[in-house]
Amino acid sequence: MELRLYDTMTRDKRVFTPIDAGNVRMYVCGPTVYDFAHIGNARPVIVFDVLFRLLRHIYGDQHVTYVRNITDVDDKINDRALRDYPGLPLNEAIRKVTEKTADQFQADVKALGCLPPTVQPRATEFVLPRPDGKTDMVTLIQQLIARGHAYEAEGEVLFDTQSMPDYGALSGRKLEDQQAGARVAVDAHKKHPTDFVLWKQSSPEEPGWDSPWGRGRPGWHIECSAMSAAYLGTTFDIHGGGLDLIFPHHENEIAQSRCAHGTHAMANYWMHNGFLQVEGEKMSKSLGNFVTINELLATEKFGGDKWAGEILRLAMLRTHYRSPIDWTVKALDECHKVLWDWYTDVQDVEPSPTVPAEVLNFLSDDLNTANTIAALHGLRKRKSFSDLRAAMNFLGFTDGGSVLARRPAGARTNVPTATAKVSSNAPTVSALDDEQIETLIALRLEARKARNFAESDRIRDQLLEIGVVLKDGKDPQTGEPITTREIAR
Ligand code: AMP
Ligand code: ZN
Repeated sequence: MELRLYDTMTRDKRVFTPIDAGNVRMYVCGPTVYDFAHIGNARPVIVFDVLFRLLRHIYGDQHVTYVRNITDVDDKINDRALRDYPGLPLNEAIRKVTEKTADQFQADVKALGCLPPTVQPRATEFVLPRPDGKTDMVTLIQQLIARGHAYEAEGEVLFDTQSMPDYGALSGRKLEDQQAGARVAVDAHKKHPTDFVLWKQSSPEEPGWDSPWGRGRPGWHIECSAMSAAYLGTTFDIHGGGLDLIFPHHENEIAQSRCAHGTHAMANYWMHNGFLQVEGEKMSKSLGNFVTINELLATEKFGGDKWAGEILRLAMLRTHYRSPIDWTVKALDECHKVLWDWYTDVQDVEPSPTVPAEVLNFLSDDLNTANTIAALHGLRKRKSFSDLRAAMNFLGFTDGGSVLARRPAGARTNVPTATAKVSSNAPTVSALDDEQIETLIALRLEARKARNFAESDRIRDQLLEIGVVLKDGKDPQTGEPITTREIAR
């Protein structure tokens, strides 16, 4: 089985070759712990959990190291500490905010069926040199200054972007363009508008650490350069996060890490999940559609009842991780019904000893969870319940109790006794539901637009196998390529 992953850096899907198959290393940017995580934050957590599971399957549980950090130093945290605990000394107030929020986060993502990463380091423990000698932020900044990649100005230490010839490679933003454009405000003390802060001074009311540049605190990006090097080394395999992090966060992590260590790459594969919006709109507090994971799990705000965490997980995984997701109550209802049916059918069924090959094949194709979920529908239609159970376990669907605790609207009323029948009947057109077929058509259209004809042909053949014939054409109004389908008779 060959794993292929889309790399934002090279902008193509490539065969994944780990640096060391005995220790495959992945870093994913984690939450800033000042408030409940929202449902958008759950997306990278779930997506990279599936990748973690797949890597463990391929290389062995003991041969994958997954690091997801906790950002517990940030101005938003200070603001929250001052607001919520005005009577306490700042450090104590900050600790209360970050501990409470981090605990909440762990509980939320556990309910979503995610495995704990191998290590979850906290940024504040990596600011100053450590007794165990693991990479820390102050030492990294000193290395950057020593190598001529950083300079002090007005109490700050700044990264000198012009000192790195290929700064901007990940996001495709060239330094020259950024100078010409008036988008980045020019701070007088910066040599170039894209230079960014590595260290800044703290006022007595702000949290701070004593450093060679006075009492201060780290900039936003340096923590990930420190914690990834601390646990994964100077060059590792996979770095992930949401696509909003490509610029500036990941671009700047790369600049810091490569220039401090003198390496050609920080990570060999850069993976970014697409964004989630809510009921067709960007999620924002002002629009009133800002939804936390915790609310979905526990309150009546969204949809009138409690959603089991795995319903949220399925709603996330039925779309390919690079596509946008529209988060709707309707989708949650549908996913609830799907899981109700699956769990009803696999109750008391022993899982097959191996994960079905089609599941592993789809996941190995740049984590195509949309096709994977379609494959699970197919297993159920074919009454391959042992395989379905094995596939569900593999994907992290193991908590039937909470899914079956509430009957979804329109669910079948008879809970059949499980019949563990493994059959290999040819799939029929109903092996995929309408939504899955539409998803495949959309993915194929995307592949065609990207001129990835191998992928688009593969999806066409896959649909043909279940009797769906696709016809490509042009929208008479817009001229845009469109695809219509019919059922083969
Ligand atoms: P933050 O705490 O804002 O740094 O976000 C934590 C993680 O959630 C990052 O990987 C973000 O890219 C990701 N993220 C934030 N908002 C969304 C969203 N609406 N959809 C998908 N991912 C998101
Ligand atoms: Zn990061």
